[in-house]
Amino acid sequence: MDSTTSLPNPLCEIGRTHPRDKHRMKPLDSHPGVWECPRHELFATIVEPDRAESLNRGEAFPMHDGSTGEVVRIGDERGGGIVVYYRSAG
Ligand SMILES: [Zn+2]
Repeated sequence: MDSTTSLPNPLCEIGRTHPRDKHRMKPLDSHPGVWECPRHELFATIVEPDRAESLNRGEAFPMHDGSTGEVVRIGDERGGGIVVYYRSAG
């Protein structure tokens, strides 16, 4: 059983900073393990803690579709991994 799928979807990073606009991201059907917020064009996925430590805001991050994105924020621990929020760099 995959522990990451039994937890609530992650909160959108943009909404997180706006108390009156908290909303959760949606699983991306085409890419298991990836969430998206269509409204903010934001994505999230889980990485190993070691990898999360080496990532910084604004750094290049490989997108689920193969294009290049950038790190928006390193999020919370989740099911043994760390949530990374990212968006398209284009
Ligand atoms: Zn959002």
